[in-house]
Order: sequence, then C-alpha cells, then structure tokens
Amino acid sequence: MGEDVETLKRRTPLLDYLRQHNWTGHPASRSEFVGLCPLHEESQPSFYVNTRKNVFYCHGCGQGGDLIRFVQLWRGLSFRQSLACLDPEIAPEADFSALLEQAAALYRQQLDNYPEARSYLSKRGLQDPTLIRELDIGYAPGGILRRHLTAQGYSFDVLRRLGLINAHGADALYQRIVFPLHRDERVVNLYGRSIGSAFAHRFLPGGKGGLYAWEKVRNCSEVILVEGLFDYAAVRQAGFSNATCSLGTHLNDTQLRQLCEGDRTVYVTFDIDQNQSGQQAADQLVHRLVVHGISARRVLLPEGHDPNSFFVQGGNAHQFQSLVEAAQP
Ligand SMILES: [Zn+2]
Repeated sequence: MGEDVETLKRRTPLLDYLRQHNWTGHPASRSEFVGLCPLHEESQPSFYVNTRKNVFYCHGCGQGGDLIRFVQLWRGLSFRQSLACLDPEIAPEADFSALLEQAAALYRQQLDNYPEARSYLSKRGLQDPTLIRELDIGYAPGGILRRHLTAQGYSFDVLRRLGLINAHGADALYQRIVFPLHRDERVVNLYGRSIGSAFAHRFLPGGKGGLYAWEKVRNCSEVILVEGLFDYAAVRQAGFSNATCSLGTHLNDTQLRQLCEGDRTVYVTFDIDQNQSGQQAADQLVHRLVVHGISARRVLLPEGHDPNSFFVQGGNAHQFQSLVEAAQP
C-alpha cells in the first residue's frame, strides 16, 4: 500500500492536480506557487504549493500536506476514499467488480477452446448449453489472464490484491471450471473447481457473498438448498428452477438472512456422506432456520450421494421430486 501511494503521488504531481481542478497559482519562488486557498474563503492568496516537495501549505487556514491530504480536506473523504478517487485501480469495490467481470468474461470465452473443460462438465452431468451460458460458466486454462488484463490497464499489483493471480503471475484458478458469483448483478467473487487433482475448491479472497442466484428464487414459497455449484447445476438442469446454493454447508449471516426474509419452506439437500458430516450440517441448519420461524426440511438422498451424483448416476427428476416430497422436518 505504501508503495502504491508513492507511485500515485509521483504520477499525479499536486500542482497538476490543482490545475486540472481550475486552481490558478503564480510563481512565488523557484519551487513555489501561490494562489487563493481552495480550502477556505479568502481574497488575498495564502495557499502555497511547493513543487519540489510536492506539498501544500496555507497560511490562512493553517492546513497543509500532500496530494492525498489535499483531496481528503477538499472533498471531505477518508484517506482510503481519497486514494480510490485519485486512482480507480485502488480500492473501490465497484472497480473490483468490473475487473472480476472482465476475468469471468475471458474465462467464459475459453470454455469451448479446451476439450478437457467440456469433458469435465459432461462428466459432472452438465450438458445443457443454455444453462451453461446462463450460469456464465468458464474455464481458466492458465497463462492468459495476466496479459489480457494488464493490456487493459490493470496493474499487476491490483490483480495480485484481488487474488486473481499469484506472485509469479499465474492464474489463481489455473485449470479450473469457473463460476462467477453475483450480488445485485455485480460479480463479487469467482469460484473455481479443479478439473484435475489440484485443490478441488477455490474462491478468490473476499467472501462468497449471499446465496447463489438468490434473485431467481427469493419469491418462491419453496426453495431447494444445495451445498455445491455442481449440485445446483444438476438440480437446475433437471428442471427445478427453485434451487439455490450456499457454497458449503456453513451459511454466512447474509445467506441465513436471505432464507429468513420471507415466508417459505426450505428443503435442505446437502450431501449424504458416510462420515455423517453433511447430515449433521443439515440438521444444524434446519434447527437454525426453525428458530428463525422458517419451515425447513431435510431431503434424504440415497447413502453416499449428493444431488449431482444422484443425477449423474441415473436419478431422474421424478425420483428427485419424490425425495423432496418425502423430506423430513
Ligand atoms: Zn486555506
């Protein structure tokens, strides 16, 4: 961060910034300009800019400092907000979201170029091209993201800070199927599922946001909740439009609040694994929801199954519907 601030100040000298914002100064000495103070009302100039030190000082109001300090005082912003307003590459979530959208778009374009990605999707039972497009699914082959984004003016440092690339410049989601995660139509994170043996699941830093595709189901009186995105895709592909996904069995506060914001029944359809961890998580969640006045039921898949494997191994929509109807409180 310290280095960024210095770079930023070098790139935008204080005098240039002031002039861009219509400040008029006259030379007062070899390295000083003087003019009316933008920070207080005055009729005689007492605002000095030292171009050698790149700082200002006002003899009228006693304020002084560097470019960032000036922006803070002038626009009434915090230090961080001032940085953000001086450099769109720094900080604001809005720009991070645009950058994530760019990365997601690039990965989406790659999906068809890599047969291994397509074959992984079909191995996980995901074949419907309309759904694949709707979910914006992409593939990170590795080795192209950094060049693509730096060519658009994003700095290496910003890509690093967002977690899109590692210290060597390689894609963090290298050889992963990529799902963009949205919140209010903005991309807030990317989820990557390895198609090989590398760490299976990976998010970029910054949290998973709310429930997946929540806008689609928020008005449904019955919601099917699954824990993984491939489960979600399988359930959607089977025709259940009222599904959402918590991206793990532990719901964050936002996700819990979303489920509780209306009058509905939640069908918790977590993995049924041999070590019982999915069942325990489902029990706890059902309990949490009931405490909040929400009707919740556990859908019991056959032993050893998650919704994805249920469909991949031949389960059909009718059978799944029967399991949902048989769900227990
Ligand atoms: Zn002043």
